[in-house]
Amino acid sequence: MRIANLDNRATLVTDNGLIDVERASAGRFSTSTDVVVGQLDELRSWLAEAGPDVTEPTTPDELLGDARLGPVVSRPSQVFAIGLNYRTHALEMNLTVPAKPMVFTKFASSLGGANSCFPIPSSRVDWESELVVVIGRRGRHVSPDDAFAYVAGYCVGNDLSCRDLQMQGPSAQFSLGKSYENFSPIGPWLTTIDEIATPDSLEITCEVNGVLYQDSNTSDMNFGVGELVSYISSVCELRPGDIIFTGSPHGVGQGQRPPIFLRVGDAVLTSIEGLGCIRNVGVAG
Ligand code: ZN
Repeated sequence: MRIANLDNRATLVTDNGLIDVERASAGRFSTSTDVVVGQLDELRSWLAEAGPDVTEPTTPDELLGDARLGPVVSRPSQVFAIGLNYRTHALEMNLTVPAKPMVFTKFASSLGGANSCFPIPSSRVDWESELVVVIGRRGRHVSPDDAFAYVAGYCVGNDLSCRDLQMQGPSAQFSLGKSYENFSPIGPWLTTIDEIATPDSLEITCEVNGVLYQDSNTSDMNFGVGELVSYISSVCELRPGDIIFTGSPHGVGQGQRPPIFLRVGDAVLTSIEGLGCIRNVGVAG
């Protein structure tokens, strides 16, 4: 299944058209994707039984550029992000690959939709294409082998980063510099886990103004999805709707020679095989 947040309403995206989940189920399911991502088994059973008609004949391709697409989840209890999870990215940042996952947060108020615009608050705003994991079940102390039972699905994300704010001070602090408004676009929709054979071998790319800067594969991740879910759950309780930005491959702006950063009007296109793409444009601010 593909589930979008369309105008703040959970919406199934099928090849034939869109299905408004709350309306088609006569109120059995919530309008909120934050709630629905925790009820995927029930939703799947209802779909098979009820066979609802599409409520809008829009195809997935037509939906991609739609301004109604909001963040896949809007009010996660936790937003985790992983630093330096691709070896080649650690190298380009002149940093070493961590022995354990390096976990930080992006604040939930920075979440944006597939076509959201983000401000350019400084001359050092950078892009980071990332696979985003959406949690579907409450869990603690989850083993790597069981981890996928706690995952609702995946979406495309960009961990936009204001490098000067991130690096100011005696040691780097990641959270604020990565949490300006719409600095965490996620979308275009949730693709449920059953649609993706393995999240650890997906092509991931990022283009800025049509120029390909990031061209990698999630197989280059140092810690895979199962290890990340397990590791985080050894400390924090995972809850439905929580998300994990799993880290960026190489090819960020700071890694270019000389470095390149985003300016007003720049369009950032982030794509992941099987999950779709998001397109976000920098605006003054
Ligand atoms: Zn990142």
